[in-house]
Amino acid sequence: MAGRSNVGKSSLLNAITGVKGLARTSKTPGRTRSINFFDTIGRLTLVDLPGFGYAKMARTDAARITSLLFDYLAERENLASLVILIDGRRGPAQEEIALADAVRARGREVIVVATKWDKLRNSQRGAALRSFVPIGVEPIPCSALDGEGVEALRHRLLDLVQQQPLPVRDRD
Ligand code: GDP
Repeated sequence: MAGRSNVGKSSLLNAITGVKGLARTSKTPGRTRSINFFDTIGRLTLVDLPGFGYAKMARTDAARITSLLFDYLAERENLASLVILIDGRRGPAQEEIALADAVRARGREVIVVATKWDKLRNSQRGAALRSFVPIGVEPIPCSALDGEGVEALRHRLLDLVQQQPLPVRDRD
């Protein structure tokens, strides 16, 4: 799971797993700079990738995070999918589109989530959805606040689990 700092990634991770405090939420964006793995049910691991694009981050740190992200997404052999979180009010920018393209180029699935959907009025939602067209995938609108979309995202993740091969057992 990847997204810009402050996009609501920690909140959504906590919401989809039902484990409060699993990923730290904070009002200080850019705090999560490492890659954290959350092993779920043996066949799917949720990976909390560092938030990128934090304005107050030193340029060298920001560049390091961006290259860490691209390296991870290009090289991780058992990558099933990239879940990319994008603020529903902003829509995708060039950086998110480039991340999605890099993953699709490897033949892996991209799931797009429009976050903080509760902040949009009904009258704004159609235009917001249309702003996601350039990323090439229809987003799942989600709100960690009121729970909208959380179940739909869980289902997409469970579909991924079912697509994974069973782990190879060691011979006795
Ligand atoms: P992260 O930096 O991407 O991990 O973002 P956080 O989960 O820490 O959230 C950043 C800020 O956005 C916090 O102040 C959250 O309370 C707020 N936030 C996160 N998700 C939602 C949401 O679905 N709706 C609203 N209204 N606020 C949210």
